[in-house]
Amino acid sequence: SKAKLFDENTDVKTSFKDVAGLEGAKEEVQEIVDFLKTPEKYTSLGGKIPKGALLVGPPGTGKTLLAKAVAGEAKVPFFSLSGSDFVEMFVGVGASRVRDLFKQAKEKSPSIIFIDEIDAIGRARGKNAMSGSNDERENTLNQLLTEMDGFGTNTNVIVIAATNRADILDKALMRAGRFDRQIFVDLPDIVERKEIFEVHLRPIKKAEDLDIDFLARQTPGFSGADIANVCNEAALIAARKGKKAVGKQDFLDAVDRIIGGLEKKNKIIT
Ligand code: ATP
Repeated sequence: SKAKLFDENTDVKTSFKDVAGLEGAKEEVQEIVDFLKTPEKYTSLGGKIPKGALLVGPPGTGKTLLAKAVAGEAKVPFFSLSGSDFVEMFVGVGASRVRDLFKQAKEKSPSIIFIDEIDAIGRARGKNAMSGSNDERENTLNQLLTEMDGFGTNTNVIVIAATNRADILDKALMRAGRFDRQIFVDLPDIVERKEIFEVHLRPIKKAEDLDIDFLARQTPGFSGADIANVCNEAALIAARKGKKAVGKQDFLDAVDRIIGGLEKKNKIIT
């Protein structure tokens, strides 16, 4: 059986309502939604629709979620793949797999291609020369650049890529007509953390003593993914105790547990 190159989702349910905070980034990607929905409106005066946008920001801040929401809002198919899986799984055939991906996305256009961890493919060429040959990765990167350059102006496939290491990317990726738009997706501030809690508390049975402002204050430095985790953990902690609803103390215990996890992770990294 052949390993899967990419996921294809032709019925994306995610919308901007699922993405809390990130007002600036949402405004910027709203433009991509408009390009996908009414390309004629934008090309009527001779302008060209952009082919790529790069979402830049720390892990867990909602980059994948935002890209998916663009597809959901525009009601177009969402082709997604992870740069690191790609480089590991397709030794020797990376370039031809990239060709296949673009071929399918074009057949189903308007559509979105989402490449998570683009840095795994798009690291600056020539670096890491000591660790043996990087020809394979470079071939894959070159094919990606070729595909993006080869799009006709009215192909209507938009490539969204995400990274938390924009600094190591090959400058060729950022050239005009490629990923020439960078959109920053940062860790949430206290107000945004409150909004993210509100999203992830929706499915949870809440006890009377739950105070979202308090939770937002208790979680500086948490990403959206961390907050989603806290909500889930709190619900499991309360259920284990046989409670009927999830209360303040369950959340505090969950926050402690997530902080413990984060500290462990950081210890391994440093
Ligand atoms: P990575 O860089 O690790 O791939 P990412 O930035 O792509 O991370 P996502 O995968 O989009 O992050 O986020 C993981 C999960 O965290 C989301 O599916 C969602 O449940 C939650 N989340 C993250 N950010 C937000 C947000 N702004 N609003 C609501 N939920 C969020």
